Amino acid sequence: MKARLMRSEDLAMLVNAIRRRGYEVVAPFCNKGRDTYYDTVTDENIGRVRLHVPNPYYPPKRFVLPPIERLLRVKRANGAYDIQATYEAPKRAIFGIRSCDVAGIYHLDRFYLGREFPDTYYARRRRELLLVNVVCTNAELDISDACFCVCTDTGPAARDHFDLQLMDLGAGELLAVAGSSAGEALFEEPIFTRAAQEHVERRRQILSEVRKRFKTTTCWFSATVRYVSQGSVPERTWEEIGNRCLECGGCTYVCPACTCFTVSDRPTGRDEIERVRIWDSCALGGFTRMAGGHNPRKSVHDRRNRRFFRKLAHYFIQRELSMACVGCGRCAAVCHGDVGMPSVVEMIRRAAALEEKIEPVPADGR
Ligand code: SF4
Ligand code: SF4
Repeated sequence: MKARLMRSEDLAMLVNAIRRRGYEVVAPFCNKGRDTYYDTVTDENIGRVRLHVPNPYYPPKRFVLPPIERLLRVKRANGAYDIQATYEAPKRAIFGIRSCDVAGIYHLDRFYLGREFPDTYYARRRRELLLVNVVCTNAELDISDACFCVCTDTGPAARDHFDLQLMDLGAGELLAVAGSSAGEALFEEPIFTRAAQEHVERRRQILSEVRKRFKTTTCWFSATVRYVSQGSVPERTWEEIGNRCLECGGCTYVCPACTCFTVSDRPTGRDEIERVRIWDSCALGGFTRMAGGHNPRKSVHDRRNRRFFRKLAHYFIQRELSMACVGCGRCAAVCHGDVGMPSVVEMIRRAAALEEKIEPVPADGR
């Protein structure tokens, strides 16, 4: 991957260079404290684009998989039906997307595009999406107590699947790495200068320091993958997790790697309807309810174990080439019952350890 250097004071010039190429640029903005959100960059707010802001809870996956998206419009006229697929594919750049969220979008790519029948709606949006990744280097602003991308190997610096990556080297310098031809094309801008080996070495040193600043480290992840895949998590542990779940669906809606949706038709006029797809959540009772009212996953703990099976079981990892968790920590931050991913990993590992059956040999050796 090719690298160039730029000044951090030229950030707005880079954003404008992307806008001039026809992209709507969305970037994270900061209100007070932890209140951050993605919004479209305009001439008015471009001065507030920053490199270091706490990662917004509402993930940028919505720019490629909207929470509600129209799929079809159906009109009835003179006894006949006119059915039109409705596609929207805005040319859009996510500026300042964190490495965990880049991995989240790659996970969505594998799910929506990686199999026999690619999702046309997703494919069209994805084709027009440019990702400008910012490496989390500021331990106070970028890295929250709940982040654990170091354990899922998705951060703090993404290794691939971005178009351009920016990393703060300090002293007003940013190292820019191109991950695609679209990213490399931006190097034509005069704000970029040559990078030297010393800059690459500084990047390596900064990353090795930053990795030590993570407070959440779920080093039991691989063991948990094994227990979940083998089905050896005790039922009472799933019950304990289920008992703590309030079924709000928050963990799903903030998760950059959750893929599930439902499809619904709704009237839009006297003789017309639209078909929409809407994010759905395995936490919610209606998720597995079938026509006729039967629900194979009626109890909360049955639905909760489904979430962690889907995220950690070997079968899905093989299919999508990654766990369905990228270590963003959002579910840990929003869950009222403290059953976000790091807590669950810990509960499962502890329960598995307690299951060990070791019996001392009695004195007579029998
Ligand atoms: S955020 Fe917590 S309480 Fe809400 S659905 Fe998810 S696990 Fe349950
Ligand atoms: S499961 Fe939790 S930590 Fe993992 S990607 Fe989803 S929201 Fe982030």
